[in-house]
Amino acid sequence: MTDEGLAGAAAVLEGGDPVAALEWAVARFAPRLALACSFGPEDLVLVDLIGRHRLPIDVFTLDTGVFFPETYALWRQVEATYGLQVRGVRPAQSIDEQAAEHGPALWTRAPDRCCHLRKVVPLTAALEGLAAWVTGIRRDQTPERASARVVERDRRPGLIKVNPIAHWSHDDVWAHLYLHDVPTNPLHQQGYPSIGCAPCTSPVVAGEDPRNGRWRGSVKTECGLHVGDEPLGPVGALTSARPEPAEPGEATSKDFR
Ligand code: SF4
Repeated sequence: MTDEGLAGAAAVLEGGDPVAALEWAVARFAPRLALACSFGPEDLVLVDLIGRHRLPIDVFTLDTGVFFPETYALWRQVEATYGLQVRGVRPAQSIDEQAAEHGPALWTRAPDRCCHLRKVVPLTAALEGLAAWVTGIRRDQTPERASARVVERDRRPGLIKVNPIAHWSHDDVWAHLYLHDVPTNPLHQQGYPSIGCAPCTSPVVAGEDPRNGRWRGSVKTECGLHVGDEPLGPVGALTSARPEPAEPGEATSKDFR
């Protein structure tokens, strides 16, 4: 696809119905098209649209092995609700194998490296062979996402990135979820607006930025899936050191098999 064609599509689809962006992508890229689903509210909007409109888009999740139990339960609930499979894409190493090589609880000492091993590398493998991938990123989530377009070139050569709800607000997302009775993570009602891996996610208090609960106490705001490759540095001399363990406490590998 040419740069002109992509820019034209982005202009036409901007601000429109996300289903139109998904159908645009299906027409051009299916079956080499997939949604990366983290089971966050935004991704659940897209799963709902894909499921209800029977769109031929593969859905996968990056199963780090340290999701909350509630997230694993939601995974099963989503599959049952929409009659589709959410494929689990897993890292090369189990939590115990990673601990043996890099030391226990790598996320407390080197979260960038941990995210690289458990998310970025598996995502790169999952995207191999695809023409385009769909994400639930919104522009107002983080500074890094502020310039996202509805359709754009991914930083990986030859890949298109489709962000159907880039222009949506937080309220747009939740209005859709309530309206269509979409299953969501019960932790959202317990102070967790943004939910990632259990060791790196903590609740937030009223008025706090929703993403403050991710990697609390760290400068880290992204897992690296939607930004350029981050310098990793050696384990123990960290790019995103976290001074204190995140809720729900010091996780061990046994907690999250
Ligand atoms: S969010 Fe935390 S546990 Fe999950 S991959 Fe990143 S550093 Fe590791």
